Amino acid sequence: MSSKSRQLDSVCVYCASSNAAAPEFLAAADSLGTILAREGLRLVYGGGGVGLMGACAKAAHAAGGRVLGIIPHFLTSHERPLKTVETIVVNSMHERKMMMFEEADAFAILPGGIGTLEEVVELLSWRRLGLHAKPIVFLNLNGFWAPMFELLEHILDQNLVPQEFRECWRSVDKVEDLLPAMRDMPTLAFMTPPGVEEMT
Ligand code: AMP
Repeated sequence: MSSKSRQLDSVCVYCASSNAAAPEFLAAADSLGTILAREGLRLVYGGGGVGLMGACAKAAHAAGGRVLGIIPHFLTSHERPLKTVETIVVNSMHERKMMMFEEADAFAILPGGIGTLEEVVELLSWRRLGLHAKPIVFLNLNGFWAPMFELLEHILDQNLVPQEFRECWRSVDKVEDLLPAMRDMPTLAFMTPPGVEEMT
C-alpha cells in the first residue's frame, strides 16, 4: 500500500445548494468560508453560487481566501457559478466529484439535501474500501445529521461494518470546531491499496 502524508491545505465543503435553507445554516456556511480564508486554507466546493455552497464561497472570497469551484456544464445555468472565483467546468457529476476529492485534504459536511447525502455516503464508502483516509467532519448544526448518525450506529450495531469504522468521521456542533476536529484526526494520509488506481 502506498501512503503519502499531506498537510491540511484544501478543505472540500459539501453542503446544500438550496436558497431556502434555514438562515442559521446559511450563516454557518458563510462563517466557514471566512474561517477557511482566515486560516489560509483553500475552499474546494461544487462551484455553484446558490444556497450554502454560494454563501461559503462568497464569504471565503470576500475574506481574501483561495476558492476552487468545480461544476459540470449542465448545472451551470441552475447552480450559477460565481464570476469572482476560480471555477473549473467539467463534463459530468463523476468528473466533478473525483476532482473535488483529489483537490481536497479533508471534508466538511454541512447540512444538505440529496446531493450532499450522496457525496458523503460515497466518501464513507471509499473509506470503507480503504481508498482514502482523509478526515471527514460533519457540522451537526441543530442536530441536523442526527438521523444519519442513527443509521450509521444501526449499521455498526448489526456488525455490517467493523467497529473501527466509527473512527473515520467526527461530528461537531459549532462551525468554529470544524478545523480543529480535522486537525485532530489521526491521519491526513492518502492511501491507495495495490491495484486500485481509480475510485469511480
Ligand atoms: P443538495 O444537497 O441536493 O442541495 O446538493 C448539493 C450539491 O451536490 C449540488 O451542487 C448538487 O449539484 C450536488 N449533487 C447532486 N447530486 C449529486 C450527485 N449524484 N453526485 C454529486 N453531487 C451531486
